[in-house]
Amino acid sequence: MRLATVADRAVLVVADGIIDIAAASNERFGPDPLDVLGHWADFVHWADSADLSTARVAAPVAFGPPVPRPAQVFAVALNYPPHAAEAGYQPPTDPLVFTKFPSCITGPSAVVELPGDRVDWEVELVVVIGFGGHRIPADLAWTHVAGLTIGQDLSERRVQLLGTPPQFSLGKSFPGFGPTGPELVTLDEFGDPDDLELTGLLNGTVVQQDRTKEMIFSVPELIARISAICPLLPGDLIFTGTPAGVGNRMTPPRYLGPDDVLVSRIEGIGEFRTTFTRTGD
Ligand code: ZN
Repeated sequence: MRLATVADRAVLVVADGIIDIAAASNERFGPDPLDVLGHWADFVHWADSADLSTARVAAPVAFGPPVPRPAQVFAVALNYPPHAAEAGYQPPTDPLVFTKFPSCITGPSAVVELPGDRVDWEVELVVVIGFGGHRIPADLAWTHVAGLTIGQDLSERRVQLLGTPPQFSLGKSFPGFGPTGPELVTLDEFGDPDDLELTGLLNGTVVQQDRTKEMIFSVPELIARISAICPLLPGDLIFTGTPAGVGNRMTPPRYLGPDDVLVSRIEGIGEFRTTFTRTGD
């Protein structure tokens, strides 16, 4: 099943278009995507058994973020060994968790205003929590996941690395710095949700490519470690870390400018395209 959001309303994506979930369920679920995610088990049961043959199918339009207003957004630094190495660190022994403050979340066709000349890309697998929980064991973690989507952990490196020790969260939370989408894809759509190829392209050239099975902390391990401290809530997002190939580790460093087109792609989910303007343009 593939879900998306149009004008803040949750929709099902079907072969020939989109179905408004609130309308098709007689207002039982939605329209807010958080309401669908907050009743995830009931919703999945309904979606599996409902006769949607008479539901109104609308033409597909531009999607917003799958979860426009998550309560919590977790993100993980240095979760792929080659990226830890390019950044000059040993692989971490515990997950390095920061937040992207939720006001940075945007959709899959965002035009992001660049607040400076040090904005960098990070394509990432993003986990969307369905059934929340506290102290979730790793072996049950996938049962708490509604689905997977794609994210860009856009990062203003000057702000990110300011101070001793640096605090990542603000430099990764400018408006528009959390493009997500295009769809939330449920786990049954994947052969192996622990092994997906992710690719970042800058102006058509591959700059990042790896597989999620290479992550130092897998999705179940991240859910267990994070929920050991913070109860997870329906609709929470976890940005699971980026592969090698970010711009600030290139020689010379390469940062995003207003003419760049960034494509973020994950096997089994799809891709989205992010473009940029400069403050004052
Ligand atoms: Zn990241």
